[in-house]
Order: sequence, then C-alpha cells, then structure tokens
Amino acid sequence: MRLEGKTAIVTGAGSGIGRATAKEFAREGAKVIVGDIDGPSGEATAADIEKDGGDAHFVKVNVADYESMKNLVNQAVAHFGKLDIMHNNAGINSPPHSVMDMPIDDYQDVVNVNQNGVFYGIKAAAGAMKENGGVIVNTASIYAYIADRNRFAYHASKGAVVSMTKSAALDLARHNIRVTAIAPGLIETEIVSEWKKNPEVWGKIEKAQMRRKAGKPEEVAKLVTFLASDDASFLNAHVHYVDDGAAAF
Ligand code: NAD
Repeated sequence: MRLEGKTAIVTGAGSGIGRATAKEFAREGAKVIVGDIDGPSGEATAADIEKDGGDAHFVKVNVADYESMKNLVNQAVAHFGKLDIMHNNAGINSPPHSVMDMPIDDYQDVVNVNQNGVFYGIKAAAGAMKENGGVIVNTASIYAYIADRNRFAYHASKGAVVSMTKSAALDLARHNIRVTAIAPGLIETEIVSEWKKNPEVWGKIEKAQMRRKAGKPEEVAKLVTFLASDDASFLNAHVHYVDDGAAAF
C-alpha cells in the first residue's frame, strides 16, 4: 500500500473530490483526518472509511478561519502523532455575477475559502511537517487558466492557488516538504449540482471535456493519491491537470 504509515488531512472531505480522496488515502493505508465545515457529511465519510476497515477521524473545520485550521492540524497530530500529507481541497463556487455587478462580500466569501483557506492550510501544515518533511496537495481548477463568464471570484481564487503552490514549494523545499496542485475539469459533485439541473447547460459544459463527459471524484482521487505518495518523490511545485483535456482546447 502506497501510503502505509502515513497520516493525512483532507479538507472538504465530507463530499465530492475530498470524500473520494479521503477514502482512497485510507485504502492505500493512510490514517485520515476528515476535515469539513459540515458535521454530518464529514462524520459520514469517516464512518464509511472505518466500515471498510480504515482508520479515520472527523474534525470540524472552517478553512476560512486560521484558528480553526490550526485546530485541525493540532488535532491531527494529537490523534495520530504526526502529519505527513495535507490535501487543501475545500472550496465553494462563485455566485454568478459579472465583474461590475459582483458584490464585494460575495467576492470576499469565495476568496476567504478558496484562496485564504489554502494559504492557512499550507501555513498550519508546514508548521507540523517542518521536522520530518511532508507533502501538500492543493486543489486548483482548470478555471485558474480559462476565462468564463460570471465566475470572476472563483477564477481569481483558483489562480492564486496556482501561484501559492509554486512559491510555497520553493519556500518549503528546505524542510523537505513538496507542494503540488491539481487542476480538475468538470467533475460530477455537489458544487456543480445546480448546473446539472439544466440539461442544456450541463451538456454544454460536458462538451468542454475531450470525450464530452464529466469526470468522477474517484478519478481525481487517484491523481491526488499518486502525488501524495513516494511514487511522486521528484514532483514538486507544478499543477497537474485532471480534465480529459479540457484545458488543452
Ligand atoms: P463539493 O461541494 O462536493 O465538496 C466541497 C466540500 O467542501 C463540501 O463537503 C463542503 O462542505 C466543504 N466546504 C465548503 N466550505 C468549507 C469551509 N469553509 N471549510 C471547510 N469545508 C468547507 O465539491 P467538489 O467538487 O468536491 O470540490 C472540491 C474542490 O474541487 C473545490 O476546491 C472545488 O473548487 C474544486 N474543483 C471542483 C471541480 C468540479 O467540477 N467539481 C472542478 C475544479 C475544481
């Protein structure tokens, strides 16, 4: 098993990509701290992992609050003795507004979770990893690179995740901490459930993938698990697409 003996945190692990990744980490032998702002869904992920014979523990976290993030990391270390892997994955979508109509509060809400949350996760995790090294994997998006209408805050926040990944990797290399990111295309999860309700909208977005189909969270989890494992020991600072070619158009 590729993550035997490792301990990992996954944020946003109550649903979608985070949930699939927490389960895949556990299948590969990691002890997993399931972090989410939503108690029942986070508890459900941890229970699911334990039912399958894995080792998981739920900690409620608001990634947009640094004290809450520090508590998540402290609890991981208290519960499992150390931290080897941090997957900064929790995220929210933009309310649909053009740049000019974007309420400042809406913009800040998205940046607080998607951008500041990743910074807080890097900072808190690095503090726990600095003696023994570790791996941090951040969830960006192909929309860090591609323009789209009415999702300005989301795009801005994901672009920042790409930049933070590179600078953090350079900064933390001296502590033997690798920092990478993933850029998913359309993945069928709760965050895009509103789009799915309208078949015309969904069909149009699905077509952006080269094989015209949304991906599954499990297909993303496989990439995150590889990046978190020693199989990826020479991979650092880069963003890895998991998008069926959508960003290559
Ligand atoms: P999802 O809605 O299924 O899961 C997101 C999880 O994050 C939820 O469990 C939610 O409770 C949690 N969360 C939200 N705000 C939080 C906060 N402040 N603190 C802690 N937890 C919080 O969506 P998903 O698709 O699995 O999204 C995971 C990540 O993948 C996000 O960063 C998202 O932007 C990114 N992403 C998704 C897609 C896609 O098409 N689904 C594409 C590219 C990137």
